[in-house]
Amino acid sequence: MSDRAGPVAAAFREWTGRDPEGVWAAPGRVNLIGEHTDYNDGFVLPAAIDRLVLVAAGRRDGGRLRLWSRQAGPPADLELAAVGPGRVEGWAAYPAGVAWALGQAGVELGGADLVVDGDVPAGSGLSSSAALECATATALADLHGAGLDRPALAALARRAENEVVGVPSGAMDQMVSMLGRAGHALFLDTRSLATEQVPLPLEAAGLCLVVLDTRAGHRLVDGAYADRRAACEAAAATLGVAALRDATLAQVEQHRTALGEPGLRRARHVVTENARVLEAVALLRAGELDRLGPLLAASHASLRDDYEVSSPELDTAVAAAVEAGAVGARMTGAGFGGSAIALVPAELASQVGDRAREAFAAAGFGPPEITPVVPSDGARRLA
Ligand code: ADP
Ligand code: MG
Repeated sequence: MSDRAGPVAAAFREWTGRDPEGVWAAPGRVNLIGEHTDYNDGFVLPAAIDRLVLVAAGRRDGGRLRLWSRQAGPPADLELAAVGPGRVEGWAAYPAGVAWALGQAGVELGGADLVVDGDVPAGSGLSSSAALECATATALADLHGAGLDRPALAALARRAENEVVGVPSGAMDQMVSMLGRAGHALFLDTRSLATEQVPLPLEAAGLCLVVLDTRAGHRLVDGAYADRRAACEAAAATLGVAALRDATLAQVEQHRTALGEPGLRRARHVVTENARVLEAVALLRAGELDRLGPLLAASHASLRDDYEVSSPELDTAVAAAVEAGAVGARMTGAGFGGSAIALVPAELASQVGDRAREAFAAAGFGPPEITPVVPSDGARRLA
């Protein structure tokens, strides 16, 4: 049994009095570039990381789903037939939602015991929720010989989050948690769901990827997120396109009066951000990883000035990383808090952390959490 699988398997034995039938894992992710593009049918470029949610699982009779997490509240004991949209509270809604989505896809589950363990920090923007869903989906599908491919499991996991948890997230997080590959980023077209593994050889380039979690809650995020989505829909309608994915910068400029303020700037962010994803993919295909910096900087500026979803903490984190020698840095995730990422020469990684901590203290913010991450494989069976 792999080292990582040991503790969760032991917890499963302690809780159920039997061995698990297996241990499965799925990673969190960072998004290199392509922010607020997913609900505009656009492009994203995430990478799976070396932070995992693990699920030890065993089948059981009697139609019950028993769930326990070493990181979350008390265990849940649910009747599978009673699981559905709006019917499960708290963290259990993620794994129970996956069981429900599998049932909707025609997979007869019978019942299961699941024990969860992991080191993807929850609510930091590394998508612990998708990691939990994808680990659960892989475990239950394997145990029941469901024969679903990875994109199908990602779609089920997303359905769990959208319909049972009730979070209207896009396709990115589950797709990259299922399909990620070590040393690669995943270029995803959120309209067609076409994917391409793009080389991200950080080590060979002497670079590392650092997450700077501001620890600032996502204040305002729900309302602002809905507001931005609505602004994008309105802008697409004004431009006469199905989604902003289909608009060009020239069209946006041409319709500036009709788009108005802030519609013009919202649309401009989405259109230019999509173009930046394509440029980043072209650079990575050409092996020019060290030239990503200006694209990351432009993405951050666009999110701050045109889309207005940054925050003083995120701006401070990005500025500190760049001052300390990062090749590039930007906020990542929905914004208003959460995390920034920085692409950093390996020998400067600790300086980036030190500089960010100093800058946060000087600004009167609580300390940021600094985590180096490594592009890693997607969901898999560990034991
Ligand atoms: P993010 O996906 O950015 O980490 P979310 O709010 O989408 O943030 O998801 C976090 C939620 O996922 C947690 O509040 C919890 O309900 C669930 N979760 C994540 N990791 C675990 C875990 N190891 N055990 C139990 N629940 C977890
Ligand atoms: Mg999430």
